[in-house]
Amino acid sequence: MSQFGSVFFPEMILARFDGESWSDAEFVPSDKLTLHPGAHVLHYASTCFEGLKAFRHPDGRVAIFRMDQNIARLAQSSALLSLPEFEPAQLAEMITTAVARYADKIPTPPESLYIRPTHIGTEPCIGKAAAPSLESLLYVLLSPVGDYFAGGLKPLRLLVEQDQTRCSAHMGMVKSGGNYASAMFPTMAAKKNYKADQVLFAPGGDVQETGAANFLLFDGNELITKALDSSFLHGVTRSSILTLARDRGIKVTERNLTVTELLERVQANPNCEAALSGTAAVLAHVGTLISDGKEYTVGTGEAGPLVKSLREELNAIQWGQAEDRHGWLTFIS
Ligand SMILES: *Cc1c(COP(=O)(O)O)cnc(C)c1O
Repeated sequence: MSQFGSVFFPEMILARFDGESWSDAEFVPSDKLTLHPGAHVLHYASTCFEGLKAFRHPDGRVAIFRMDQNIARLAQSSALLSLPEFEPAQLAEMITTAVARYADKIPTPPESLYIRPTHIGTEPCIGKAAAPSLESLLYVLLSPVGDYFAGGLKPLRLLVEQDQTRCSAHMGMVKSGGNYASAMFPTMAAKKNYKADQVLFAPGGDVQETGAANFLLFDGNELITKALDSSFLHGVTRSSILTLARDRGIKVTERNLTVTELLERVQANPNCEAALSGTAAVLAHVGTLISDGKEYTVGTGEAGPLVKSLREELNAIQWGQAEDRHGWLTFIS
């Protein structure tokens, strides 16, 4: 199986903002883009993106999961980066048009189509270190992806990091390239020094999230996760899992969680479960937390029943095997 996100359909859909207005969207080859080497994005990281998925249902139709949420988030990221504004309807049209073009080529579950809307500042002006790009490109890449868990359900090892931050505090809810660049060094150090898979950023003891996924703790009949604030990325998967958990009668508590409380709960309850949520994996089980050089096993260290069944329930809705009772799906064909 090829690396997640390394295969693309041959064309993408693209629209240009020239400082005054948006061009009509057009299909262009997905393997090249002409940019001025002085383009704003290449120097001052005026870039943001989204990740959402489309699924082929048993009846052959194609459904996109919670597209409105991802569009709203890209609009928010664009605004926080002072990129040109776009209409949500304009991007919705681009996404559905692009997905429709390749509807026949979308694989069946557990495979899916990963959709990557991207918005970049293209104004060729290196003098704008402290000024926004007045020109931009908005495009939608399409990447067929395989079963995230094809290699088996390996529990994740997370290094709990209290000294470093994932990104600047005011950039937390922007899905922007610079944030991943800033999380890279601490993540590579955690891999090297602790054989950790990811870093759970908890600056000053406040449990936030990892480099690209939200963190959820299940303790008894309670799901605890950080309440929405501007310090972290508001995952669509997080919100979906919280909704499904509430539907089941699980007590969902959105509040700050300290590292001390997290480790106390994990040690006190041998049935605790922890997971990372994100579009790629839906819910990935956390087996071990590493903090101050000590290792803490979460639950049995293996995939627990709640995380597994919530992932399966969300997948069943996405895959057309369970009722879409919250109206999360947009059908293409
Ligand atoms: C994309 C992302 C998530 C997960 O968001 P989903 O909408 O669930 O895919 C969480 N944290 C960060 C930093 C992200 O970039």
